[in-house]
Amino acid sequence: MRVAQVSAHTSPLAPLGGRETGGMNVYVLELSRELAALGYEVDMITRLDGDLPRVEQVERNLRIVRIPAGPAAPVEKEAIAASLGEFTDELLRFTQREGRGYDIVHSHYWQSGRPGGVLARRLRVPHAVMFHTLGEVKNRARITEEEPKDRIRAERGIARRADAIVTASPHERQLLEMYYGADPARMRTIPCGVDLNLFQPLERDDCRAQLGLPPNAPVLLWVGRLEKLKGVDILISALAELEEPDVTLLIVGGDDRAAALKGELQRQAEAAGVAANVRFEGPVAHDRLPLYYSAADICVVPSYYESFGLVAVEAMACGTPVVASRVGGLVSTVIEGVTGYLIPWRCPEPFAEKLEVLLHNPELRANFSRAARTSVERFRWRNIALQVAGMYDEAIARRRSRLRPNEGAGFGKEAYEAAVLAGR
Ligand code: UDP
Repeated sequence: MRVAQVSAHTSPLAPLGGRETGGMNVYVLELSRELAALGYEVDMITRLDGDLPRVEQVERNLRIVRIPAGPAAPVEKEAIAASLGEFTDELLRFTQREGRGYDIVHSHYWQSGRPGGVLARRLRVPHAVMFHTLGEVKNRARITEEEPKDRIRAERGIARRADAIVTASPHERQLLEMYYGADPARMRTIPCGVDLNLFQPLERDDCRAQLGLPPNAPVLLWVGRLEKLKGVDILISALAELEEPDVTLLIVGGDDRAAALKGELQRQAEAAGVAANVRFEGPVAHDRLPLYYSAADICVVPSYYESFGLVAVEAMACGTPVVASRVGGLVSTVIEGVTGYLIPWRCPEPFAEKLEVLLHNPELRANFSRAARTSVERFRWRNIALQVAGMYDEAIARRRSRLRPNEGAGFGKEAYEAAVLAGR
């Protein structure tokens, strides 16, 4: 069985912690690896963005295919739209040249939904989609710049035409049904996974020594792509309300392109008198993160929205309690009063209150820590990949049962793109 994982705007192999490299990159790579280990032949298809091989064998059964479209250099996510038509043409050409096709096409994020949908049509195989974030939901959070109407229309068209949609949480599923009219019968809620071998509790004192942190003072941790939607401003306000003077807050992630937001946060911390407590670490390699999670007393996820929130699950896998916003996927991963606390969004005071409760109570922290590790067993990648594979089987069987000779023929790139862009 051959599977195409389409991730047009960002490579699953790109370094993490940049403006556009986070959960989705981890998801595509880890899911692909696990499917490959299960015996699927997987191609991760992305845009060529540097002097890199067009096709590269990453592991057994797993290749990365880089499609030339636009400049062979990194470009802003917003600018990728201009190259999507070329990306689609080149992708079709690549598949034709190889002459093997795929049994299913799985697209990630709305920008991949267009080329992925065309490829699936051409091959007359099912198109599975995972959106990761939705324009309509970002707009409703009203914290970032307005997402363009074209994006929302295209998402609607992709959702309506997809044979299967993976949602990372029941909440995302509701949103797709409510705002996008997606058919519930084609949606499957399958959470994201976590690498439980990499993310394990490590010896705290040792981790603190390695990171140059004091052995006994409280340490809070935030990890992610540094962007407004992540709510780091709420965390800094909460930090300023804590009674303890010697708390360290580590901020992990945020490359040069996040410099403006970093500057804003630094100014906010200065004005609130906590600048000396905040350490900006920049992006940290994924496999070094267990060191950070294990060194911290609490991992804080104050996002305005999170469709899943891998960071919370990674922290819990390392036995670190989580204090998170009560939004999106976090509601189904953090267990209130057992592995952490969920706080109504945009509210620094209750964040501060729950942080105090945990910081003052080592025994409670230890209980949360044990429960946290156990609670994430359900996110083991093997389980997740098996659920995704089950969804592929269903979509393939459904399609075979209703495919008539010549169906799909004559519905070419232009017609598909026009339908998607019109939100049909
Ligand atoms: N991450 C990383 N290094 C960094 C910052 C982030 O490896 O410096 C990873 C982090 O471990 C997690 C992902 O990026 O796996 C962020 O995923 P999440 O679902 O929390 O947020 P998203 O990027 O999807 O908004």
